Amino acid sequence: MGHNSYNPYESAQKQFNHVADQIGLDEATRELLKQPSREYHFTIPVKMDDGTTKVFNGYRIQHNDARGPAKGGIRFHPNETVDTIRALSMWMTWKCAVVDIPLGGGKGGIICDPRTLSKGEQERLCRGYVRQLYKNLGPNLDVPAPDVMSNAQHMLWMLDEYETLMGGHYPGTITGKPVGMGGSLGRTEATGYGVIYTLREALKALKIDIASTTASLQGFGNVAEYAAKLYTAMGGKIIAISCWDNNDKKAYTYRNPEGINIEQMAQIKDSFGTIDKQKAIDFGCELLEGEAWISQDVDILLPCALENQITPETFAKISKEVKVICEGANGPTTPDCDELIKERGIYLIPDFLCNAGGVTCSYFEQVQCNMNYFWPKEEVLDKLDQKMTAAFHAVHNLAQEKGLYMRDAAYVIAINRVAEAVKLRGWI
Ligand code: GLU
Repeated sequence: MGHNSYNPYESAQKQFNHVADQIGLDEATRELLKQPSREYHFTIPVKMDDGTTKVFNGYRIQHNDARGPAKGGIRFHPNETVDTIRALSMWMTWKCAVVDIPLGGGKGGIICDPRTLSKGEQERLCRGYVRQLYKNLGPNLDVPAPDVMSNAQHMLWMLDEYETLMGGHYPGTITGKPVGMGGSLGRTEATGYGVIYTLREALKALKIDIASTTASLQGFGNVAEYAAKLYTAMGGKIIAISCWDNNDKKAYTYRNPEGINIEQMAQIKDSFGTIDKQKAIDFGCELLEGEAWISQDVDILLPCALENQITPETFAKISKEVKVICEGANGPTTPDCDELIKERGIYLIPDFLCNAGGVTCSYFEQVQCNMNYFWPKEEVLDKLDQKMTAAFHAVHNLAQEKGLYMRDAAYVIAINRVAEAVKLRGWI
């Protein structure tokens, strides 16, 4: 995915090693944390609607569970790779640690394109995934959630299969479930809103009024849509959105210098994030090539799609106007851009801090499932805001005090917390 000359696992290890050097992490802890602790690779035979059987490849990778059960989403993507899932599982460990929730890091994936599967085929694929893995899942073991192209319905099919096999109700096994079926209010919005809570705090620190800013967005899936909604509700103006068009098999950038009406755009996209081109044009957008989002004269760039989108090559196209890069996606920036970002003096809100709102709300969902008592939406979002704001300031303050780059400051906090848990448990 993304620019595939970059291997996300190598990027994740590079980032980790860089900070492990800075904090003088001992050899054994470094060896333990630079790779996943467990991996499951398996096949999933699925009966297709036409009577044939198709075999899919599924993965679940648990990077670290010293601070709590492994936690992280399951991606559905035709170009998924084991190394991408390894990287994402590492980033989940740092994500849960930086917001200080009692969970470890894991990630799963199925190599598939759900856009080409019927509902029944998707259900059988979800159930097949759980049949292969259920012994290694559970509220106290490993807790999946949605990610790229997977959704609340997929999660509920998975949970139903798990509960059928286990013979009981275990709603804390999977998060991101539908509201009313053990899901939390606010979970759908949580990742995107969390992105904007961190952006709001960053802009305050930079003494920039959010209502005077413009932004360009990559992606229009679950993260991007709700980030865009909250950002515009706070007065910001999105002038460009780039997203994948699954009919044309390429990305387009939709631009409107007057500001894109996000509510309208949300109404003309399908559940996988493809926008209806003609309707977007009717709503006043001009259609540009996919990469145009990155070269817009805006204050803020919001990469909220996939990894490896900001490379030295695309970085060169970033406008001098850009003051903040807000990483809603996991791993959108390649490690060789970090120096460039520093040189330009662009303020970075690093991915595993910026997009931690989703997993934070997943944690609230587990807490509510344990009590079997569900909070009103305002209460969920209020708690989410507090967690994200506190985590942002811890990272920002450390960066200021020690003169650290924001990504490194986030890593310092996260690695120290995980290393401490590993030590307290007596593993090292
Ligand atoms: N898939 C989301 C992420 O990358 C959410 C994970 C979760 O809720 O466990 O953070």
